[in-house]
Amino acid sequence: MSVRPRVLKVLWARAGGVCSFPGCGLELAFDANILLGENAHIVAQSKEGPRGEYEPPGGDLDGYENLILVCDVHQKVVDSQPATYTVAKLLRGHMPDAVLEIVEPDGR
Ligand SMILES: [Zn+2]
Repeated sequence: MSVRPRVLKVLWARAGGVCSFPGCGLELAFDANILLGENAHIVAQSKEGPRGEYEPPGGDLDGYENLILVCDVHQKVVDSQPATYTVAKLLRGHMPDAVLEIVEPDGR
């Protein structure tokens, strides 16, 4: 599966085209040909990937609720430190007003 174009449009529009990592705000569309970041999955597409043991927010791995717009640097930061950048923390940055249930890997 891949992220649907409509979902990407909503993600970029709601994020204002800037990195959603707190304090960054880098404008990601450098020009018409160069993007300095992209959508990152909060829960990885692979079970072995970052936070891959969790159920994706919203129930769809490629849905808006499981995506966050970040610059290339912060994508590496959040994916290399999944214990620090948890599903809950990334969701708060992505959708501060969202009320989504986080399903822990053990089903709690
Ligand atoms: Zn950033």
